[in-house]
Amino acid sequence: MPDRPAILGGAPAFPNGPPAWPRPDPGVAAALAAATATGAWGRYHGDNVPALEAELAAFHAVPHALTCASGTLAVETALRALKVGPGDEVILAGYDYEPNFLTVHALGAKPVLADVAAHNWNLDHAALDAAASPLTKAVLCSHLHGGLVPMPDVCAWAAAHGIGVVEDASQATGATVAGKPAGTWGDVGTLSFGGTKLVTAGRGGALLFRDRAGFQRAKLWLHRGTQAWAPLSELAAALVRPQLAALAAGTIQRTARVALLLRELADVPGLTPFENRVAGSPAYYKVGFRYDPGALGLTREVFVSALRAEGVAFDVGFTSLHAGRSPSRYRAAGDLREATAAGLGCIALHHPVLWGSDDDVRRVAAAVRAVYEWREAIQKQNF
Ligand SMILES: *Cc1c(COP(=O)(O)O)cnc(C)c1O
Repeated sequence: MPDRPAILGGAPAFPNGPPAWPRPDPGVAAALAAATATGAWGRYHGDNVPALEAELAAFHAVPHALTCASGTLAVETALRALKVGPGDEVILAGYDYEPNFLTVHALGAKPVLADVAAHNWNLDHAALDAAASPLTKAVLCSHLHGGLVPMPDVCAWAAAHGIGVVEDASQATGATVAGKPAGTWGDVGTLSFGGTKLVTAGRGGALLFRDRAGFQRAKLWLHRGTQAWAPLSELAAALVRPQLAALAAGTIQRTARVALLLRELADVPGLTPFENRVAGSPAYYKVGFRYDPGALGLTREVFVSALRAEGVAFDVGFTSLHAGRSPSRYRAAGDLREATAAGLGCIALHHPVLWGSDDDVRRVAAAVRAVYEWREAIQKQNF
């Protein structure tokens, strides 16, 4: 039997809690020093925003990139670049980031919820046919929790129907999908530099374009004359640049840590890692699992509390978008069975611990195993 878990009074696996994010980064510290030394931090127009946009375009091998104030604004701008407006329909997964759903509403369009795939609780391309109507203007797909949406299938379907694609890679910055960077499959891709994200400026976002017309429409929308009304600041851009330069190496490291974690957890029942059937490498903003309370012997909420007590950043996933929401606010394509299951059964490990050592990852796995071994005592204490 492993040592008593923290939720039962034992010593936590990580006594100081989960690793802080962002972590100390010498590249960021140097960029900050340079920005204060040159005055770049306080300027409207400097070198950093245009340099970052060029670096984002080069990193993703697309002709155009634009930065803006948030990932949510990037999604809105992307939909506007595809001319989504009142009366249109936008297909998205029934299990997705809620602000994306609300962004569709903000444009006066109607969200149409498509089901997610059972193996990774990300948008299922096979659900698109049932979701389409003559009003469909765009598909908005997000790669979530280490899952990958099969973009080649989504894009082939969308092209055949004359429908636009927005690929939200906010949780997959640095990922690849079928040989191309995440965010470059759709007509427009979006990224977030929000405070928990893999590349962070506290706030911020970006758009990636294959097509010049969409890029021009987005740029126009983000400006009032010569003035950008919700830009990424020069300082934020300066701090993102060194993180982008180091991103590929970090992705390789986190991918190896996730492989180790999944090997270490293979014998714990009730925790099924998301499985991707499209080739690629998710960047692992989160590591998602399908949680089975019956097999693990603890409710999802108690399991997450027990791991939190260990200093391990497991969380429950999103609420599914249709749960508790008036059906007048969306159209459902089918019974959304898997999206419902995802809302009730998803758990995810947050990425910062994956930037540490192999030993940290083994400690996470040992904490999970200890909670599992002590499940009966934990369940008794909580009821
Ligand atoms: C974080 C995130 C965004 C954008 O979030 P902002 O905080 O507005 O930058 C968009 N989509 C998904 C899936 C996200 O996780």
